[in-house]
Order: sequence, then C-alpha cells, then structure tokens
Amino acid sequence: MTNQDMRYISTRGEQKSGQSGKPFCDILLEGLAPDGGLAVPAVCPHFDAATLREMSGLGYRDLAFRILSEFIDDIPAVDLRALIDSAYTPETFRSADITPVRTLEPGLHLLQLSNGPTLAFKDVAMQLLGNFFQYVLHKRGETLNILGATSGDTGSAAEYAMRGKHNIRVFMLSPHGKMSPFQRAQMYSLSDANIYNIAVRGVFDDCQDMVKAVSNDLAFKARYHIGSVNSINWARIVAQVVYYFKAYFAVTGAQGGAVSFSVPTGNFGNIFAGYMARRMGLPISRLILATNENNVLDEFFRTGVYRVRASSEVVETSSPSMDISKASNFERYMFDMVGGNGDAVRELWSRLQSSGQFDLAGTPWIERVRNSGIVSGHSTHADRLATIRDVHARHGYIVDTHTADGIKVGLDNREPGIPLICLETALAAKFEHAVQEAIGRAPERPAGYENIENLPQRCEVMESDAEAVKRFIAAASGN
Ligand SMILES: *Cc1c(COP(=O)(O)O)cnc(C)c1O
Repeated sequence: MTNQDMRYISTRGEQKSGQSGKPFCDILLEGLAPDGGLAVPAVCPHFDAATLREMSGLGYRDLAFRILSEFIDDIPAVDLRALIDSAYTPETFRSADITPVRTLEPGLHLLQLSNGPTLAFKDVAMQLLGNFFQYVLHKRGETLNILGATSGDTGSAAEYAMRGKHNIRVFMLSPHGKMSPFQRAQMYSLSDANIYNIAVRGVFDDCQDMVKAVSNDLAFKARYHIGSVNSINWARIVAQVVYYFKAYFAVTGAQGGAVSFSVPTGNFGNIFAGYMARRMGLPISRLILATNENNVLDEFFRTGVYRVRASSEVVETSSPSMDISKASNFERYMFDMVGGNGDAVRELWSRLQSSGQFDLAGTPWIERVRNSGIVSGHSTHADRLATIRDVHARHGYIVDTHTADGIKVGLDNREPGIPLICLETALAAKFEHAVQEAIGRAPERPAGYENIENLPQRCEVMESDAEAVKRFIAAASGN
C-alpha cells in the first residue's frame, strides 16, 4: 500500500476531476454529498497475500486499526487507536473476540455479530461511530443534534452508542405502541440526559416523514446542527469491513483458501462491507445475499432489473429489519459496476426517479455484476421457521429470524468444499415471538436482559407533526 492520501468522492460526482475529494472527517458528519450522491473512497486499498498472512493473527482491535488506517488519514494514529480500543471492549461485546465465530459443523460457521448492547449487529459499527462523532465534534467545538426515525434496531443501537456523549443529543422518533415490548424497553429505559425518545402517534412512515420535513427546513437544520446516523454513513460501512477479515482468519487459520459469506440484507450496508473486503483482496468466493419476502435486491441479482417498491408494497415480515422498499447503499455498489462513472450513476438514478426502475440487460455493466461475487436468494416466513427448527435440532443453537434468512439462502447457494460463514445479525432473544412459533419455546435472554421490561421507562408522546418536533428540539437545545 502506498502512502497516497485517502480521499472520498461522490457517487454522482463529475467524471474524475483528479485532485478533488474530501478526507474522512469531512464526510463523517455529512450525510448525503451535496450533489445527492454517497461518499466512496477514490481508491480502494488492497492487501496482497503476504500482508494478509501478517494480519491473520491480529486481535480485533489491532485488526480494526490496521484496516481503518487504510481509510482514515486525518486522525492521528494514537487517537484512532484510542477511539477503536474504547469502542471494542470485551465488556461492551461480552466476548474477548468481539465478533466470535461459532462452528456449527465442519464447513458451516456462524459469525456472531450480535453480542453488543442492543443484541444486533448494528452495535459493531455504531459503537465506533459514537466515538468518531464525539472526537470530531470536540475538535471542532461543535454540537450535533441527531434526529432519526426507527422501527427498532437502528434507533436503539444509535442511542446506546451516543448515550452520555458530550456535544451530542439524540432525538429518536418511534411509532407509538408499534414496537415489541423488548425493543420499547431497550430504548425507553435509557435515562441519559442526552437521549430523547419521542413516541409518535402514527406509523413508522409518519416518523420518517417528520424527519424529512425537519431536514428539508434548511434554516432550522443549520441553526440546530441537525445530523443523522443512517445506514449510508461511510464510517458504518468501513467499521463492518473488519469483521469479514476477522471471520476469514478465524475460519481458515494458517491454511488460507476461499470462503463464502451469507448476509441477511436490507439496506445493502452489511453486504457492501463484504464486497469491499473482497475488493481489498480477501479471498471471498461468494457473497450470498439473502432477502425476505421484500425481494427487491434478490430480483436485481437474478434479473438485472432494479425496481424499487412503493411503501404500500412493502410486506411486514417476521424479519422486520429487512423490510425495505429500496436499498440505500446499493448506489455505492452500482458506482463500482459502472466503473466509477458519476454521470452513469446520475443517469440510472434519474431513470429510477422517473420510472421506478432500471434494467441492466444489454449494458456492459451486467457482466461486472455477474463477476462481483454476489449471488442471491430469498426466504419466506415458513422457510425461516423451518431453518430455526432445523438449526436448533441439529446444532442445539437458536438463531433469530434474520439470521435464519441468511442460513437458508446460504445453504441453497454454497459451493462444495468452500466453508460457509453465516452472519448472525441479531440474537434470537430479540425476536422471541417467531422463535416461540418455530420451536415451541422462547429463547433464553443474555444475562442482564431478563427483566428489561420492568425497568422504569421514559418517553415523550407526540402527534405526527414536524412543527412539534422542531419546538421540542429547540427547547432541549436551550433556545
Ligand atoms: C439492519 C439489519 C439487517 C440488514 O442490514 P443492512 O446493512 O441494512 O443490509 C439485517 N438483520 C438485522 C437484525 C438488522 O438489524
């Protein structure tokens, strides 16, 4: 690797203007790029086989430092180390390995990403993001009011990552009475002064519309430093690249060789991190993309047609964190497929805007998609229940519905002789209902979560009204 500066460009940027681009800390807080695109590294780092061998024995924090250093050159090394070391502790992730691998049988493994505070994989990225935000805001003497909408996993992961952080407040909108008792307890029992839970009388879409309305009020947004932590944040992607390397080394040891990963997919963030790892030289044979009944991405990888769904077409499933109408990170992947041509991305996305779809058939890009390592499939509610039952019967381990999606599609698409690593994106305890339906009993909860529903809860109940949330933010900010 050369010591070339790491700069980020937009997926909708002008055709390679050469020297342009921003360093990591400038895109960290940015959200969408000013031209409406997403930030991507101008050059993808690459490790050769000898370097991979050297990295293979590193513990999680050392490995994270090694990989993140390739993407971040505007935070001094000692500071970057400290931010990583305090995010990835055995106390926070209840494992010395942070993301341990559990072998179900020879050739079939579970990458356990869900031992963080909210019992879902989003903690891995979010814990580091919280440290990055606090660090950069402190350096710049700025504050940030994070405004988000959640139906579960993202909001709680953000709150647990940002709780108690200086210069940051979190305003999280959730649909009143629509989350599971467990999810509600996780969020509403936080008593930190910088966390504001707002229960909106409406559905998740109403919450999202309120966030959009506030963000579209540019004067308000600027005056109150409104930011977000949504899944397009580049720092979240890069944090997730680390565990693909960690799992690869854990499974292959000194032998090397190829592996495949199966990834329960919604907004394409997690699997895009795997795609980055593959581009960086990690010997990944297949990235197996699993969707549930909301199969917009499975359709694309089978047919070359990307057709976004209307909200009314989105089905409520038993793997709710994958119930999406379009996949926000998919644009980063397409940028790569069209050879880093921002004009081509702009054109595809304007076609998406006008007709709701684009079709890669007959373009030179479809071949790149075929060679990108991603294959796909989808599962149904019955598939998930059968998989939970089967994994429990064979291996004595209970997986959640999202992980079950991944295992089902992973087993359907694996190749003989190539180890399959299935990503565990949430613990079964988070989705008790479906597990109960599958095996006739609820999964055990990790220590400390047994009686979470009995903790005192606190939230602000609000009508579905953007002006009300603006008044609330203004009051909480003290002006
Ligand atoms: C967010 C989430 C997913 C989907 O991940 P993406 O990065 O959006 O593709 C899958 N499973 C669980 C449990 C999640 O919380």
